[in-house]
Amino acid sequence: MSSDDKLYISYNCVHKLCQKAATEILSTIGKPDVIVAIGGGGFIPSRIIRTFLRQTGEKNIPIQAIGLSLYEDLGMGADAIGKEVIRTQWLDFGALAQHFDSLIGKNILIVDEVDDTRTTLHYALTELYQDIQENAEKLGKDMGNTKFSIFVVNNKLKPKRAELNKDLMNGGIYLSGEDVEDRWIAYPWESSDIDTHTELAIKQGNN
Ligand code: 5GP
Repeated sequence: MSSDDKLYISYNCVHKLCQKAATEILSTIGKPDVIVAIGGGGFIPSRIIRTFLRQTGEKNIPIQAIGLSLYEDLGMGADAIGKEVIRTQWLDFGALAQHFDSLIGKNILIVDEVDDTRTTLHYALTELYQDIQENAEKLGKDMGNTKFSIFVVNNKLKPKRAELNKDLMNGGIYLSGEDVEDRWIAYPWESSDIDTHTELAIKQGNN
């Protein structure tokens, strides 16, 4: 793919989109109790959005990292959406309960850089929900008011391979910094020449 086919997004642009999203999050679902960052693309946006979600004098919102990888399934054990997601890193519920609190009843914000086919977000939401539910059952608690929201820097406007179950989100919101056409997006943290990357982003109006 030539550089002209890609959509270049600068650090400034990511920062501003996170800032705008934080305002919307605070005015809708309120301050999240915890951010779940899908690695690696969700790490930098998570850290930026935390800055704007924190109000003066308040504690930082903890960021928990999870790692998910996608591979095109070759026919063995394909799930309903035709792709398989591998957990490369997941939440340590024991450590969470010890050092933070359990996620039961919390306002949870899941963050990733891009919603492409939606497979990853679908997996993250469904599996987090199930694990928290299992955890709640073990502890004899009700996960009733656990709320899941999702923030992505960019959402590609295209047919998705999976849909997000609103019932699981329990009143949480789905928010994209900016909806974009279906092109490959070049993010600044992947760039080996950040000056040229930023110039291209500015030319495309993404700064
Ligand atoms: P999904 O198809 O599950 O929505 O996206 C899977 C993952 O593919 C994303 O989390 C992201 O890491 C990667 N991805 C999809 N589209 C793009 C893109 O346009 N640019 C970059 N840099 N990564 C992408």
